[in-house]
Amino acid sequence: MSTLPSLPSERTAAVKRELWTEIDRRRDELARLCADGLRVPAENPPGDTRAIADHYERLLDLAGLAVDRVEPRPGTVSLVATLAGREARPRFTLNGHLDHFPADDSRLWSFPPYSGEIRDGKILGRGVADMRGGLTASLFACLLLREHRVPLRGPLHLMMVADEEAGGAWGTGWLLEQRPELAGEACMIGEPESLNGLRVGEKGKAQFRLVAEDASRHGGLGTGMTWSSRSVPRSRKPGESSRCPTIRQPSSCRCSKP
Ligand SMILES: [Zn+2]
Repeated sequence: MSTLPSLPSERTAAVKRELWTEIDRRRDELARLCADGLRVPAENPPGDTRAIADHYERLLDLAGLAVDRVEPRPGTVSLVATLAGREARPRFTLNGHLDHFPADDSRLWSFPPYSGEIRDGKILGRGVADMRGGLTASLFACLLLREHRVPLRGPLHLMMVADEEAGGAWGTGWLLEQRPELAGEACMIGEPESLNGLRVGEKGKAQFRLVAEDASRHGGLGTGMTWSSRSVPRSRKPGESSRCPTIRQPSSCRCSKP
């Protein structure tokens, strides 16, 4: 891991092997850690993350990690846990959000969205992909580093944030305003990707003007037809370019996916 460069290379390799072995050995525990979190919904809207923050704060406390709890507005709770390093830099940050979109009508689900069931090797639940899975991976990494007393050159921060599904102003945005050092020299956000996917940095900005007429609605909310599916019937046909479906695409656009 990038938190280990202060160790001699052979020692670093040994620590990595030790941690990978531990992760494989404790695979079921890792899955259960994720599934248990799914039993504590934090639907956004309304975005109340108090209960799930309580849940993770207990785990972090038990592990002996220092945890800061912030609530910049009632109900919008984020956590920052820190593993100290020998030096002030480099800082590495793991970021993930606590909130997720609502389950909406549970009768339309083929399994209870908040039971935390693990079936046929799969963890079932609303918000498991986006992003309790990635969040749990970051949490487990911190717990392992702590348990194994892995010496870190710089601090490692775990940001478990609120408000992401509503834009993040009261979660990551607020925290970075208050504590800009949390941005770190490097940061990893465990948002969902394809199984072997890893996106480095951001794609940049694509600006376009789009006019649509209908009731505005986020695609992740509810089961109604969205404005985007109705008023913009297609963005791309098979065989067409996979570049972003701009009306007038700026030359700076570097989108790799639609
Ligand atoms: Zn997400």
